[in-house]
Amino acid sequence: MGIVDEDIARVRESTDLVAVVTGYTQLRKVGQRWTGLCPFHSEKSPSFSVNAAEGLYHCFGCKASGDSITFVREMEHLDFPGAVEWLAAKAGITLRYTEKNESEGHRRQARLFELTERAADWYHDRLRTSPDAAAARRYLRSRGFDADEVAHYRIGWAPDDWDQLVRSLRAAQSDLEGAGLGFLNRRGRMQDFFRGRVLFPILDERSRVIGFGGRKLPDTDGPKYQNSRDNELYNKSKALYGINWAKADAVTHNEVVICEGYTDVIGFARAGINQAVATCGTALTEDHVKLLKRFTRRLVLAYDADEAGQSAADRVYAWEKTHEIEVSVVALPPGTDPDELARTDPAALQAAVAGARPFLAFRVDRALSAADLDGPEGRARAAESVLEVVAEHPDELVRDQYVMQLADTCRIDAARLRDRLEVVRRTPRPPPEPTRRHRDDPLPEAPPDGPGVRRLPPLRDGVEQEALRLAIHQPELAAPFLDEAFFLHPTARAALEALNESDTLAEAIDRSPPEVGEVLARLSVETLEADPTDVLARFASEVGRRTLSDLEAEARVAEDPLAYADVVAWLKVTLDHLRRPKAEVETVTQLLAFLRDRHQQ
Ligand code: ZN
Repeated sequence: MGIVDEDIARVRESTDLVAVVTGYTQLRKVGQRWTGLCPFHSEKSPSFSVNAAEGLYHCFGCKASGDSITFVREMEHLDFPGAVEWLAAKAGITLRYTEKNESEGHRRQARLFELTERAADWYHDRLRTSPDAAAARRYLRSRGFDADEVAHYRIGWAPDDWDQLVRSLRAAQSDLEGAGLGFLNRRGRMQDFFRGRVLFPILDERSRVIGFGGRKLPDTDGPKYQNSRDNELYNKSKALYGINWAKADAVTHNEVVICEGYTDVIGFARAGINQAVATCGTALTEDHVKLLKRFTRRLVLAYDADEAGQSAADRVYAWEKTHEIEVSVVALPPGTDPDELARTDPAALQAAVAGARPFLAFRVDRALSAADLDGPEGRARAAESVLEVVAEHPDELVRDQYVMQLADTCRIDAARLRDRLEVVRRTPRPPPEPTRRHRDDPLPEAPPDGPGVRRLPPLRDGVEQEALRLAIHQPELAAPFLDEAFFLHPTARAALEALNESDTLAEAIDRSPPEVGEVLARLSVETLEADPTDVLARFASEVGRRTLSDLEAEARVAEDPLAYADVVAWLKVTLDHLRRPKAEVETVTQLLAFLRDRHQQ
């Protein structure tokens, strides 16, 4: 999906970056700039700077930089369209999308989100005030919920009735169905989807209500849990309960804890672990992994021990490789879940999370703990079952580490274990999953670095950086004279190229690789201190000297060296002129014009 370029530009123009940033850190005006404590790293003296006119920020401490869209992406952990939509909503701009029906689709989506939001409020209100919710309130109290928690998690009550919600919402039937709130019953009437359940609203990473998780009260009929069915807003392979609260802490702690239910997420929060999310009635999927890795690459599974051990190992290893994530597992005491442990022994829950083990190590531990290591037969059997587990890991070096540990534990020669491991690896293991990669097939290589990720050497202080600063601050003065071919440093050259090809600085930063964009952003918040003519003179002299030695070299091998005499003489005189303290504008511009012509030949 794409947002119309024009609208992205409109969002940028209508956004006051200072106002946006002020939502996260205080800014003070210093000269033309605004400065304050950096919201991206912790510091005591301000190194964060905003250029309000250009709508750009830069931190001299952590080097964070960009425009309003980058800022919102970083602070709110959103993707590009998400950040544009966030800013558009603030500015009251209705976005258009590149595909015709996309605009209609987004209007419909906005309508559905409004409905789920109203439904969440309605259910919550029922829980707090309605007499028929007394049993639900009692149940929540018995599970340790206080009023603050009920409010924080917006817990609700779906009355045990036919159509109270849909009647109260007064929305179109197709909208109610699209949002998963109601359905057409056999008699052709709209009916509430949830009835007689305590409801936990499920929010997406932008804090929009996408669905509900419903839990029945004890001693009532029906399945214990019932979640929204997949609909236009809700997709269970993508939904993660708690992601809206957890994302900031996942970034701060550089890990996310993944558990099975909403009450586990709440249990973790009670134990002070706020970076927990729950899959909603499904195993972890690749879509979940893709969403989570935007916040952290360390995924910690906190499932019931048996289930964690049974997670499809080949999928986990494939994700670790393709998505560059690390999966580890929390060893919970047998028979406990996080919700329960948080109530009985929060310290044990914290310790379990802190002691999470890499996925393979966890599986090896489990195989060993089930074994009898006291006798030789027991140790041999233990070795066999551990090798089965180790064999699944795609990396030979990793496998070998475990082989050596196993050799110690089971007192078996490592070389013999290696031979045995190869046999295990070659033995097909039933049942083969259809999507399973043959274990001897090489895993796909990471894509080669595209132009957006190539690494360039850092740009240092010097005439090239000065010239670039001038090109940013006084484009009308510098643009006619500066040519990217004048620059030797690849970053400076790429930066000027981007400036010359863009209408605005923001656009130039957008189209540049990160290192170049960072330089542009940094220079834009630095003050231009030198006299522009002096900057151009120094820069022209340097390029001129290089050109002079090129010309002299060409002349030495030319058929008619005398043809170079005039231009070499003129260039020498001009460079001499520029060595004087106050350069004349005309001399500088003449030289730059000459150099540009020559470089463009
Ligand atoms: Zn910073």
